[in-house]
Amino acid sequence: MKINQNYSRLEESYLFSTIAQKVSAFQTDHPKTEIIRLGIGDVTLPLCSAVVQELHKAVEEMGHKDTFHGYGPEQGYPFLKASIRGHYAVRGVHLDPDEIFVSDGAKSDLGNILDLFDVDNTVLIPDPVYPVYVDTNLMAGRKIVYLDANQENGFLPMPDEQVKADLIYLCSPNNPTGAVYTKEQLKQWVDYAAYCGAVILFDAAYEAFVQEDDLPRSIYEIDGAKECAIEFCSFSKTAGFTGTRCGYTVVPMALQREGMSLNHMWLRRQTTKFNGVPYIVQKGAAAVFQEEGMQQIRKNIAYYQHNAKVIADTLTGLGIWYTGGKNSPYIWLKCPHEMKSWEFFDWLLQEAHVVGTPGAGFGKNGEGFFRLTSFGDQDKTAEAMQRIQKLLK
Ligand code: PLP
Repeated sequence: MKINQNYSRLEESYLFSTIAQKVSAFQTDHPKTEIIRLGIGDVTLPLCSAVVQELHKAVEEMGHKDTFHGYGPEQGYPFLKASIRGHYAVRGVHLDPDEIFVSDGAKSDLGNILDLFDVDNTVLIPDPVYPVYVDTNLMAGRKIVYLDANQENGFLPMPDEQVKADLIYLCSPNNPTGAVYTKEQLKQWVDYAAYCGAVILFDAAYEAFVQEDDLPRSIYEIDGAKECAIEFCSFSKTAGFTGTRCGYTVVPMALQREGMSLNHMWLRRQTTKFNGVPYIVQKGAAAVFQEEGMQQIRKNIAYYQHNAKVIADTLTGLGIWYTGGKNSPYIWLKCPHEMKSWEFFDWLLQEAHVVGTPGAGFGKNGEGFFRLTSFGDQDKTAEAMQRIQKLLK
């Protein structure tokens, strides 16, 4: 018996546990001080009422013999796939229902998709990055080439034809940097993938935060992307489904490699290893893309966007360099006074009682940077910014 030794290549992630320990130690020493947390990546507003109503109705249906639902189609119910299709059509992207796979969230599919690819593939991953891309490839024993995202390229690295990649991870709007690729930049990535025969794994989990109309929300807005890209999306940040769990993955019919259809491979994988998302959850998710639901989630997103603007305006006023904030819930700032990420974390906690996330926790290029999120309460976010302003003025 041999275990998968690749697990020993994984580095323990101490990021969030170290933050929790430091915050807890500070609170013990200063029990009366109010700490404001701008480090969380989870949403704080509840599900909107249009979704809750549909969830209730679906629960009721499950209690009656004639409307009960047992195993559903592994790739999702047609009613939800139709809603997702409609959502893409608004952006001029036309999908076949069979190209859409409903999932229990983007994270699982981002890991599971690797079943389709050989272990010998070279994987290109930006640094800093959402750690799931790195760890899932390390677990499988794949070789990773890191792509430097930094202040010079606005944390939007572009392809280098000298580097040969088979799988490419892109996340836009980005976690942790909040940076968003333009259509022209994504076109360069699509052309590069076509040149290498590579497959792009495009994470669009934050697409709902894009405000500027000319910025792409899906990679399929780019010509040629259906031949080289798989897209992952989620109701988590769009509609507060972080605890309810629902997402979707698009694998185009046009995506073929070595005479195989990746769509057919993914269907085979899902029907073998996955039994679908609960009917109740899919009913709730479908309400998101209906008129009432759409209006309500836009209001919630606007609430977070207001926070992002307050944070961004404060940093602009202080002359601090940052990315994100406008088309993303994340603001990625350069630590003032040349401080390192953890140094700034400690200083901010001690002096302003505000908690963020040290950029160094997302990769080596994150050192010297810091992530703030807009998922908090509006009054507390405004208060945190006043404290930071006072401290850094
Ligand atoms: N992709 C990115 C970039 C994320 O930041 C997250 C969650 O924070 C996810 C995917 C996971 O989304 P889900 O809740 O749908 O699994």
